[in-house]
Amino acid sequence: MSSLSSSRPVAVIGGGVVGSALLYTLAHRGVDAILLEAEGFLGLGASGTNSGVLHTGFDSTPGQLETELILRAARIRPAILDALDVPVIRSGAELVPQTVEDNETVRSLAANAEKNGVEVCIRPSDGALLIPGESVSDPVAFTQALAASAVAAGAKVELNSRVSAIATIGDGLAIQTADGRRFEVSAAVNAAGLYADEIARLIGDDSFEIYPRKGEFFVFELPDGKTLDHIILPVPTKRTKGVLVFPTLDGKVIAGPTAVDLDDKEDWSVRPSAREEVLAKAVRQFPALEGLEPVASYAGLRPAGRDSNYVIERSAQNDRLINVAAIRSTGLTASLGIADYVAGMLPELGIRVNGLRPTTPAVIDAPLGPWWQRTAKYRNAIA
Ligand SMILES: Cc1cc2nc3c(=O)[nH]c(=O)nc-3n(C[C@H](O)[C@H](O)[C@H](O)COP(=O)(O)OP(=O)(O)OC[C@H]3O[C@@H](n4cnc5c(N)ncnc54)[C@H](O)[C@@H]3O)c2cc1C
Repeated sequence: MSSLSSSRPVAVIGGGVVGSALLYTLAHRGVDAILLEAEGFLGLGASGTNSGVLHTGFDSTPGQLETELILRAARIRPAILDALDVPVIRSGAELVPQTVEDNETVRSLAANAEKNGVEVCIRPSDGALLIPGESVSDPVAFTQALAASAVAAGAKVELNSRVSAIATIGDGLAIQTADGRRFEVSAAVNAAGLYADEIARLIGDDSFEIYPRKGEFFVFELPDGKTLDHIILPVPTKRTKGVLVFPTLDGKVIAGPTAVDLDDKEDWSVRPSAREEVLAKAVRQFPALEGLEPVASYAGLRPAGRDSNYVIERSAQNDRLINVAAIRSTGLTASLGIADYVAGMLPELGIRVNGLRPTTPAVIDAPLGPWWQRTAKYRNAIA
């Protein structure tokens, strides 16, 4: 253990939901922490452009790290969401089989849920799988509340701070931002989403590669003030969870996402063909969408690992950089589990981590309006 390392803060690179959950956890466990975010706003990446669903892990593969962290987060998250006043629709989800083969899938999903300790049941009338614990949140509010609570507990957030260089200094790291500022830290956690591979390469670590997997969504308003009171899940495939239909906190209904592998990490456009792709599937599951015009659309880019998923480890090039990368599909759900897991890695670096202190309430400086609109507006404003 070194006294030098503990006198410097720990840096979190990237202010998506994963970075913000890390900052929250470190700040509330007595670790001096600073978050460096490239943009002028937190949660603009995948974290602000997803489905906002807090999954239970009923369908996750038992034994995988992703599953372990989804389940770990489920134990930590409810009390924190409540304490931070983050809005959640505790609606539950239904997965309705459409074919005979789907019935078999439902039975194997129910068995999988049991292995993960997640409550589900099969409705006798139509064989639907009911998952009461699935819920929908506002992912931007969640991200911002975590960071704001961390700041209230003593952490720092530096916006407009794009990390451009990392050097080794003794038993710490010197991080430089694109505008020339320099931060000396005891360790850094790389939670830069789509750019996590580029951050790792700054210290010569090319052990993983991140590519964008686009997901497009369409937002609807049901006639006569009607709403949807639960999440409708499709029967999943190996590749994606498929197109869901889910309610939003502001009474809209969203259908999506698609899954399109790309190379361009800045292509946040919605493809003209996406609408038909999404609607054809969504209407089968929720006929009330038939003939409706979407009131909005948006796209998110999943930070997908090439042949990897949930890369959470100290870099082989310099173990003071902890990569938290390729958090592709479940990062909103698992963020607080991931943060708890990473906090457990710090004592090996001589960084003292206490038990979790009571949560400091957050004062959120978020623009008003639904999250699915905020991110698109911000991106258009800076385009
Ligand atoms: C279409 C879609 C649907 C999804 N649905 C769900 C869902 O329903 N439930 C769920 O749990 N998960 C879902 N996910 C997954 C979830 O959104 C991601 O796993 C999660 O947002 C990843 O968070 P992150 O913080 O790692 O990345 P991001 O949110 O992308 O954050 C990374 C941050 O790093 C910053 N950054 C990048 N480079 C630098 C740099 N050089 N210096 C400083 N900062 C930098 C970026 O600006 C960004 O703010 C979905 C994702 C998508 C795209």
